[in-house]
Amino acid sequence: MIKMEDIIREGHPTLRQVAKEVPLPPSEEDRKILKELLEYVINSQNTEVAEKYGLRPGIGLAAPQINISKRMFAVHLEDGPGRQHSYALFNPKVVSHSVEKTFLTSGEGCLSVDRNIPGYVPRYSRVTLTGFDIDGKPVKLRLKGLAAIAVQHELDHLNGVMFYDYINPNDPFFEPENSVPIER
Ligand SMILES: [Zn+2]
Repeated sequence: MIKMEDIIREGHPTLRQVAKEVPLPPSEEDRKILKELLEYVINSQNTEVAEKYGLRPGIGLAAPQINISKRMFAVHLEDGPGRQHSYALFNPKVVSHSVEKTFLTSGEGCLSVDRNIPGYVPRYSRVTLTGFDIDGKPVKLRLKGLAAIAVQHELDHLNGVMFYDYINPNDPFFEPENSVPIER
């Protein structure tokens, strides 16, 4: 099981690499990694388990964050009552997105970043994502709101991009044009 000490932090070169495509159908080893990524995120949101193992809560985790430079990530979050999103994907790709942007009013955080970095991170409001599930079956997802933001954050990890790269250095709370804020 993945623990905090397995998660690499900002400054580690792997976080700035472009990760490699996962060969499909997925190997047993790659399936195991993907399963563990999802397991971490789920466990980290369970107060008892998180406390027991010292897990920092997160809604997403990408393979490069555990120093595996391969294109896979897991996201697990509740976006309103009963609106549960749980995805674990190989080779995810944004195939289309809205013109409208969005951002979290509280900014973003990251399991690989131990400091609080204030500022708005502009994201697309809606994205259509393709990828492959744990069995290597093709998946197509249309996401909006927090789920859309989470997958864009995780996808960035596969391209060596960190959330704070998007924060306007001259004006961290600059509201991106054509954007709708999400209170969080
Ligand atoms: Zn992150």
